[in-house]
Amino acid sequence: QPLTIAIIGRPNVGKSTLFNRLVGKRLALVDDTPGVTRDRRMGVGKLADLRFDIIDTAGLEEGDSTSLAGRMRLQTEAALGGAHMVLFMIDARAGITPLDRHFASWLRVQKIPVILVANKAEGTRGTEGAYEAYALGLGDPVALSAEHAEGLGDLYSAIDETA
Ligand code: GDP
Ligand code: MG
Repeated sequence: QPLTIAIIGRPNVGKSTLFNRLVGKRLALVDDTPGVTRDRRMGVGKLADLRFDIIDTAGLEEGDSTSLAGRMRLQTEAALGGAHMVLFMIDARAGITPLDRHFASWLRVQKIPVILVANKAEGTRGTEGAYEAYALGLGDPVALSAEHAEGLGDLYSAIDETA
C-alpha cells in the first residue's frame, strides 16, 4: 500500500502551505486565522520521484473533546492512526512554544517515525528557530520554507531515509 504521511503541528505553522506545495493543487484551505483547516484533507503528494498519500490536519491543541481545540487533537490522532510517518512542523520564526514542547513529548512515545520540520526558515531569522528545534528531542530538524519552496531537497532525503 502507498506510503501515507500526515502533517501535524499547531495552527498557523504552515501545514496547509506545505500540503498544497506537495500536492500541487489548492485542496487544503490556507488562511491566516489560526486553526482554520478544521478537517483532514488528503491528496497525492509528489516530491521528485517519491509518491505518497498526504494528510493535512488541523493544529495540535490541548482541550476537551467538545472544544475546537479538542476536535483538532482528535483529528490529529485520527491522522496518526492512518499514517506511516508524520511531519511535525514548527514555526522557525516564532520559535519553540510550550505547546510544541508538550506535543513533542507526546509524539516521542508514539510508535511512528517523526520528521521534525522547521518551517518559515527562509532567511536568517528562520535559521535560529531551526536550531532551537533540536531541543525537542526529535532529531535533526529539516529547515524548510513551504512558501518559498526552500529545503525541499532535505525534506526529500529525510522522507526517503525514514520510509
Ligand atoms: P496551518 O494553519 O499550519 O495550515 O498554516 P497555513 O499553511 O494556513 O499558513 C499559515 C500562514 O503562514 C499563512 O499566512 C502562510 O502564508 C504562512 N506561511 C506558510 N509557509 C510559510 C513559509 O515558509 N514562510 C513564511 N514566512 N510564511 C509561511
Ligand atoms: Mg491548515
